[in-house]
Amino acid sequence: MKNKRNIILKDINLRMMRNKLRLSIIKAFAAQRLELLNSENKIYWKNGVVASENALKPNNEEKEKGRVLRRKMEDLKLKLDASICRCPSCQSYEKDMTFYPPWGSWVCSDCYFAYHEEWEAELIQRINTKDF
Ligand SMILES: [Zn+2]
Repeated sequence: MKNKRNIILKDINLRMMRNKLRLSIIKAFAAQRLELLNSENKIYWKNGVVASENALKPNNEEKEKGRVLRRKMEDLKLKLDASICRCPSCQSYEKDMTFYPPWGSWVCSDCYFAYHEEWEAELIQRINTKDF
């Protein structure tokens, strides 16, 4: 998608359903990330001590497994940030979203207003139409 696109819901019931669905997806991402983080901790924490500081240092195979886990966690974060579920700037999942082409992701309408280049013209337009 190369152009700005708005997804705006005016009906309060639809907004509530959208927000619950977004929150469910965000919780699923968080649960998966926590699972990956626990797996990583098993590599780098042994007997309650950071493994690099004791005799049980991770071997090369464990280090590679840790790198794969970190890549998966970063990939999850990137996918969530690029999705329409949560604004990557303010973390809101309850606002209408606008596609922001420079980032290649969706941001909430408030953040879009703060970042996009024509914000002054839009501010004047909002003042003239009393759209706040
Ligand atoms: Zn935002």
